[in-house]
Order: sequence, then C-alpha cells, then structure tokens
Amino acid sequence: MKLAIIGAGLSGVMAYKYFKEMSYVESVKVFEIKDSCDFLKSHTALLRIKSVEIVNLLKCRYKKIKIEKNYLSDGVLKQTPSIKDRNDYSKKVIGAIHSRSIGSISEYSDRYLIDLSSVKIEESDFNFNTDYYSCSEKFDAVISTIPLFSILEKESIHTEAIFKSTPVETVTADVKIDMELDL
Ligand SMILES: Cc1cc2nc3c(=O)[nH]c(=O)nc-3n(C[C@H](O)[C@H](O)[C@H](O)COP(=O)(O)OP(=O)(O)OC[C@H]3O[C@@H](n4cnc5c(N)ncnc54)[C@H](O)[C@@H]3O)c2cc1C
Repeated sequence: MKLAIIGAGLSGVMAYKYFKEMSYVESVKVFEIKDSCDFLKSHTALLRIKSVEIVNLLKCRYKKIKIEKNYLSDGVLKQTPSIKDRNDYSKKVIGAIHSRSIGSISEYSDRYLIDLSSVKIEESDFNFNTDYYSCSEKFDAVISTIPLFSILEKESIHTEAIFKSTPVETVTADVKIDMELDL
C-alpha cells in the first residue's frame, strides 16, 4: 500500500512512525507545507506527554517526571479547587461547565518530557514546501492531520456547522529552572 500523510506536526509524525513499521505499507510519503521539519528540529516548547505509548512510538529521548499542579485564583496559589473554581475554570477553557482535569489537580501524576529533535525520520520520505493538494501522485490511502478548517476548504466542503471560538490570552514569564532538563 502506498500511503500519504498530510502534515508533519506531532500527529503526522506519529502516523509516519506507526505506518513506516507496517509490513503491508510499501511506502509512506509525508507532505508538509512548511519548508522544513522545524517541528522536529527546532521545536522550542517543552512537550509534556501523558502516555508512554507516544514515547514508545516516536522512539525519542525522554525523561519521566512526576507533576503536581496548582492554579492561581484571585492572586492566590491553590491546590484544592472549590466547586466555583472548577466551574469557572471549565467555563474559561471550553465555555461550559463540564468535568475538567482541575478536579484531580492535587494528585501527583506521571508525565514524559520528550525531545523531538531525537525522533528519527528518513528525510527522503518527507516532502517539505509541498501542498499535498497540488500533488498529482496517486496513493492507496491518505491520512490528513491538517486543521479541520483547512480540510473543508481544500476539499471544497461547505458546512452549516458553526465553529465557535473565544480569544485566548498569552502571558510570557521568565521561569527559574532549578532542575536538570538534560533528556
Ligand atoms: C504553547 C503550547 C504548549 C503545548 N504543550 C503541549 C504539551 O506539553 N503536550 C502536548 O501533548 N501538547 C501540547 N500542546 C499541544 C500540541 O502542540 C498540539 O496538540 C499538537 O502540536 C498538534 O499537532 P498536530 O499534528 O495535530 O497539528 P499541527 O502541529 O498543526 O500540524 C499540522 C501540520 O500540517 C501542515 N499543513 C497544513 N496544511 C497543509 C497542506 N495543505 N499540505 C501539507 N501540510 C499542511 C502544517 O504546516 C502543520 O505542520 C501545546 C500547544 C501549545 C500552543
């Protein structure tokens, strides 16, 4: 089977690593509109993953850590959310009251810090600076990981669905790192 994957973000690279190993897959081609795999090479955010399955799939360098969360409410750092805090948080992130992870905030849990630059890919499988939709090559199967809005536009799919969104705020802060993050 000839497989195409659209997008070389985290999902695209995960799909690539998974299907590359499958005996029934004759070839995998990844199409990425950006001009390099900067996601893997110069991703600067600290990626914290919950599932070890992802670490095993990517076969990357990682460090297992224990995390404990706090939240800031009215200028006070808290760890035991009241019902009001839970509801306020849920309304803030999804605009409605639902069960959110803030409910288990006081529990320690495991996470994996992963080093994306250590993910091994065969560069020849990747077509950078290439919009899949302008490529004439035919594939037996296509996995798209691009945003839903882009898929609808590219496939000329009209929908009456309304995608709601609310503005986000970003705060930048200097963080003092007091642990060795060498993965
Ligand atoms: C500040 C921040 C911190 C985060 N921290 C974490 C974290 O700690 N842990 C965690 O798990 N997640 C984290 N996330 C979320 C995580 O980064 C995203 O969920 C993830 O990167 C989404 O990956 P994706 O592959 O689905 O999408 P994307 O990364 O958006 O990948 C889609 C790719 O498709 C390409 N593309 C688009 N159109 C086309 C086309 N026509 N042809 C070819 N290519 C195309 C795009 O260029 C892009 O590279 C964080 C997000 C942010 C913003």
